[in-house]
Formats: sequence, C-alpha cells, structure tokens
Amino acid sequence: MSAAPAIPPTLSRDGMAAALLNDEERTRIRAKSAQFAPPTAALPDGRRDLVGLSREELTDIMVEIGEKPFRTKQLWHWIYHQGVTDFSRMSSIARPLQEKLAERFIVGRPGVVTEQTSQDSTRKFLFRFRDGQEAETVYIPDRQEDRGAVCISSQVGCTLSCTFCHTGTQALVRNLGAAEIVGQFMAARDSYGEWPSPKGETPRLLSTIVLMGMGEPLYNYDNVAKAMRIIMDGEGIGLSRRRITLSTSGVVPMMDQCGAELGINLAVSLHAVRDDLRDEIVPLNRKYPIREVIAACRRYPAASNARRITFEYIMLRDINDSEADARELVRLISGIPAKVNLIPFNPWPGSSYRPSTREQLERFAKIVMDAGFASPIRMPRGRDILAACGQLRTESQRLRRAAREDAATDTVE
Ligand code: SF4
Repeated sequence: MSAAPAIPPTLSRDGMAAALLNDEERTRIRAKSAQFAPPTAALPDGRRDLVGLSREELTDIMVEIGEKPFRTKQLWHWIYHQGVTDFSRMSSIARPLQEKLAERFIVGRPGVVTEQTSQDSTRKFLFRFRDGQEAETVYIPDRQEDRGAVCISSQVGCTLSCTFCHTGTQALVRNLGAAEIVGQFMAARDSYGEWPSPKGETPRLLSTIVLMGMGEPLYNYDNVAKAMRIIMDGEGIGLSRRRITLSTSGVVPMMDQCGAELGINLAVSLHAVRDDLRDEIVPLNRKYPIREVIAACRRYPAASNARRITFEYIMLRDINDSEADARELVRLISGIPAKVNLIPFNPWPGSSYRPSTREQLERFAKIVMDAGFASPIRMPRGRDILAACGQLRTESQRLRRAAREDAATDTVE
C-alpha cells in the first residue's frame, strides 16, 4: 500500500491540522482493519492462488521460482484478459512451465453456493471462500441495453449497523481479500461467459462495478484498492475508473485517500440531512458528521460535471422524507456536481420503518430535480430473490440457520 498523499504545502493552519488528523485517523482505521484480515492465499496443499496479487508481487513470485520477470505479463494476460483458470490452456507458455506452475499455484475463483436469476433478470450469487465464509454479489442488468452493474461485497458482515439496513444486522466477521473481491467479478463474468475481456469501446455486458454490497469498503481500503487496481489494469480486465463506483457511509479520511489514489466514482450514503437524525440511522455520523462528509465530497478530486458524486437517500416515511428535508438536502449539496438516488425502503421483519408513499417520493424528487440535480427513484431490483439493497446475505443466512435447526431437530428426534 502506498503512503497517504503528502499534505500540500499551501494548506492553511486549519487545513494542515485537519490533514494531520486525517493521517492519524487513517493509521487508526488501517490498524483496526488489520484485525479483520482475510486468510492467507495458500491452500492446505501449499499451492498459492495467483489471483489478487499485484504485478510486482507476481513478478517476485516468478523470480522466486527461477523464472524471468516477463512471465508476469504472460500470466496477467491469461488470468485477467482471457479468464483462463487452467495452466494447460495457457498456450503461449511451454508445457514444462505449465506443469511447474500447476504444481505450485492455482488461478482461483470463489465457490458458487447458489446462483439465482430474478424475474427482472437480476442475478444473485452466493459465493463461498476458502475458509467457508460467504458473501453475495449481484448483477443488475440495464433494462434497455446490453450492459449492467455488478454489485460487489467488500466485507463479510458490517460494523456500521445502519438502522434501516438488514445486512447491517450481521456483525463484521472479516474483510475480504483482494483475490476475493476481484474473484466476485471474475466469477460473475464466468457465469455470463464474458471472456476474453472486451477491449476499448467494445460493449461489455458486465460494464460497471458498484462497491455497494455487504460491508463498508473504506474500512477495508487496502484490499479494495488493490482489487480495483487489478480490475482497472489495461492489459487485463481493463475496466475504466469511470465505470467503478465506491459507496461509503462517509469514512472521511479514507474518502480523501480513495480520491487521490484511485480516482474512481464516489457514492455517499447520506440518508439524512440533520445530524441528530443521521446519528441515529447512520451511526457513523457520530464520528464523521454531515458537515465533514459534505466537505470531503466538495474536495473529492474525481468529481466533475461528467462524473458526479451520487448521494444515496433511503426514503423512510415520516422520518426523512419531508419537503423541508428535500430543501435542506439541496442546500447541503449545492455547488457539488451530484445526483441523488432516492431509494424506496425495503421493509424487513423487525424493522420499524415504513416506505415513503409514492406521492411523497415524487414530491421530494421534484424539489431536488427543480434545484438542478438528477433525482431518479431507484426501483428495487431482484426483490423476488432478495437481491435488493440492504437484503444481501440475510435471507441465505436465515435459510441456512433454519436448515441447521431442522437437522438438529431431526437428530434429537
Ligand atoms: S448500509 Fe452498508 S454500511 Fe450501513 S449497515 Fe448496511 S452494509 Fe453496512
């Protein structure tokens, strides 16, 4: 991981203090994140997964086994451009080296536990990783065109406990590693047969990535950043930074870092315009309040009229959906190149929230739109397979628990 961006010498004293504080905060966040590290890339038989390694790491490994550094380029092409997982299919590599590689390494994928396709063509994958932990990934096809977004998870569980989010009721188990994050995208591409990676302007079915699945990606920044660098590499998958959006609840110090180092698009889960309310529904707000989150959006380097920041806003009836809320939202984000995604709440058992009425949603959207911000009402996708926002993983866990309980009852009887 490269160091935090240097503090520009032109900063005011306040700005300098804030930057130093952010450096300290980043160190603290990283140390905490390291406590939830993913398992090693080694298999029980000693072989090592090549997926998820940076080019430099791959080169080091080739040199370690007595091969020339140019093997990295060859392997990179086969793994990330061609999508090949079997060394014997890497035809530009001589047979003896193929065998040598197969003895020592694998080109891994997460295991597919279930793959469900919704009536609206949304496809949800439940992936299992080598230590048995699982995460979900969702492919959401565009309704009009042959392209779509892959929604990727960054952690197993989540620490943030946003009160409207069913996914957030699952405690954080661990971070996903770079191989597991890249692996979700590669396994989804396997399912659609989209190999080799389309080049340049050639249309892609799996055309964008949204880091909006389970977890807070900026609490697993190092692994997420490594995975995104692999995915953006032009000699492999080659997905442009413009086609990747990271969604955060507002981990301010890491927003700066993400903007400086990756330059990918940013989405912010805002959901409330007053600190007292946001403290309650997005508890991270107690640490990074609205003012700081919005300030970080204003300085986000990748934001422009062509690449707007997305503000996610879940519409909760009589909680955050008044016209005064809409006007305050417009005031807060004024001057930021932004759009506002209005998300109808998906009720789940045990939640006290109700979805806003259609009329209220439309009134809210109109105020935001009249102020010059696009404000699409995001229709829930994949509801029949529980792939909609905030539903990930909970149902598969519930079913598994029920199955285990059934099995236990059977045993007792
Ligand atoms: S909304 Fe995102 S950050 Fe908040 S609890 Fe759910 S998964 Fe975690």
